[in-house]
Amino acid sequence: MPATANDAAANLAAVRARMETAALAAGRAPSDVTLVAVSKGHDVSIIRAVLEAGHRVFGENRVQEAEAKWPPLKTEYADICLHLIGPLQTNKAADALRLFDVIESVDRVRLAARLRAELDRRPELAARTVRYFVQVNTGEEPQKAGIAPGEADSLIEALAADYRLAAEGLMCIPPADEEPALHFALLGKIAERNGLASLSMGMSDDFEVAVTFGATHVRVGTAIFGTRQVAGSRINDLP
Ligand SMILES: *Cc1c(COP(=O)(O)O)cnc(C)c1O
Repeated sequence: MPATANDAAANLAAVRARMETAALAAGRAPSDVTLVAVSKGHDVSIIRAVLEAGHRVFGENRVQEAEAKWPPLKTEYADICLHLIGPLQTNKAADALRLFDVIESVDRVRLAARLRAELDRRPELAARTVRYFVQVNTGEEPQKAGIAPGEADSLIEALAADYRLAAEGLMCIPPADEEPALHFALLGKIAERNGLASLSMGMSDDFEVAVTFGATHVRVGTAIFGTRQVAGSRINDLP
């Protein structure tokens, strides 16, 4: 079931406390790990409860759903940071650039080219500072978005050199039936050899493991908002 507003605020505090414990146990500063509260599939009323509890960093996986929920909230709370964590179709690139502050799902040159072209040709996007992560399909699952691990280095290089969209970090979603730690370790290795500082990894079931493996961003939905009951609940499969 979706959480009530009270539950959501309490869940948020509990997730933060668990993140802090995991960070300290790993010898890391708790402030080095950002909680991205994944609000896909949940109503604005419960999102509001989490905003009122002081949280500002959120994730959505679909451009259209986010467009229906977030513009008024972003007007009301100027310091919201909205992450796109789902696959991005090239024809939605301009919409994504208008609304999202971080695009975590850059996974192909064609998308990078489109993002660059939209930024260059649309005056309303000139003032936007959007941050980018490269999504890596660490499990090489055919139904999942993300660049293959073996092709990640060249995409990261092309983003910076050819498109002026230097990636801040990497994102991954491990296969549901595999040990996530192996995938977190692989993502860390790819980031390290490319000199990237940020790692977006870990969800409700494994965010503490991710923190142990160096996550700088964890994406947590269910543990804060409860279960999702509407479309948009899929975990990042291709459309
Ligand atoms: C839905 C989703 C999450 C959150 O998953 P939970 O298990 O609900 O915490 C994290 N990352 C991505 C990419 C998602 O699509």
